[in-house]
Amino acid sequence: MTNDRKNELAAMCRLEIRRTVTLAQMSLADHGYHLAMSVFDAEFQSMLDRLDDAPFDEADIPLLMEILIEELWPQLREAHAKHRETLFGKLISRNNDVIVADAEFAFDVGWIPLVHEAVARMRTYPESWKVRIDGGKEKFGCLVLYVSFVVDERGAEPEIRRLREEIRLRSLATCDICAGQGRLRLGGFAKTVCDKHTAIFEGFREDDGVWADPWKWHGDAAECDK
Ligand SMILES: [Zn+2]
Repeated sequence: MTNDRKNELAAMCRLEIRRTVTLAQMSLADHGYHLAMSVFDAEFQSMLDRLDDAPFDEADIPLLMEILIEELWPQLREAHAKHRETLFGKLISRNNDVIVADAEFAFDVGWIPLVHEAVARMRTYPESWKVRIDGGKEKFGCLVLYVSFVVDERGAEPEIRRLREEIRLRSLATCDICAGQGRLRLGGFAKTVCDKHTAIFEGFREDDGVWADPWKWHGDAAECDK
């Protein structure tokens, strides 16, 4: 009986699920690369609001929830992953003289302009340094770039260390999601975001706002190499 009702509901929702995914595609970038469950809750609610006139009753809500977790959520995740893949794919293919083809970037799209700046500066280095970006990741709210180069080349090592540190410090003032002005925020995790994108946090730690640079907080400058 429950399954019959679930199938009925699923059929009623199908079109609305498709519409929700299309609408969400425009705002998915706002959610950062860990698509949080709160995004699902918001989409679930907005879908219920749009289905206001549909013949549902309270008892249908758990079934609707199941349908949306099974059908809407995977589609939202897929659309979100595609969006990231497109932007990072372009970053790599347009800068393939500096960025390796299989580079992996584990941060949000708001920091792509910082990678562009690193690339532009690396193009001014002597050929013999053979400098390459192998990837990058977000660590405690900072952008850490992985760079390889010929270590024995005179001047290469200090210059690249300086560049990576400059990019890391700039990332601590740049929203990881939209590239707007941001600062390090501490909640259930650490992330550098603008005021608008603090919405991805569910709450903040007491020491949020106290630390501008997590490397100082850990008291270990060598952290930035890993
Ligand atoms: Zn932002």
